[in-house]
Amino acid sequence: MPYDYDNQNIFAKILRGEIPNDTVLETDHALAFNDIGPQAPVHVLIIPKGPYVCFDHFAIEASDTEIADFNRAVAKVSQMTGVAPGAGGNGYRAIANCDDDGGQEVPHFHIHIVGGHNLGPMLS
Ligand code: IMP
Repeated sequence: MPYDYDNQNIFAKILRGEIPNDTVLETDHALAFNDIGPQAPVHVLIIPKGPYVCFDHFAIEASDTEIADFNRAVAKVSQMTGVAPGAGGNGYRAIANCDDDGGQEVPHFHIHIVGGHNLGPMLS
């Protein structure tokens, strides 16, 4: 089934400036902001500005420029927040939930960067 992007989802509204957000980083093709319900000391969401529902939609249909910009934004957030080993941190988890079985709540592709303490095994 092809993806059907809902432009009334909350992240679409954030991108249009209809809902405020706590911006961490903005690039040409991505926006990063603090999660409204943080699950750890660092919990940032990075979203592409284009209308992509989840990871495979984005990775297959976005341009190389969008993908490169988005990936760099994710990496920059991991360093800016101090969790990346490259910035002296102890590491982090990058999570992309997709659709019902993946537990995705907001149908606009996003990566969670979560860290700031030991997260333990992934599926515990
Ligand atoms: P998902 O389950 O991967 O779709 O995660 C959606 C995330 O969006 C959750 O962690 C929510 O706390 C977060 N969230 C929902 N609304 C907002 C908002 O307005 N600002 C920031 N984060 C939000």
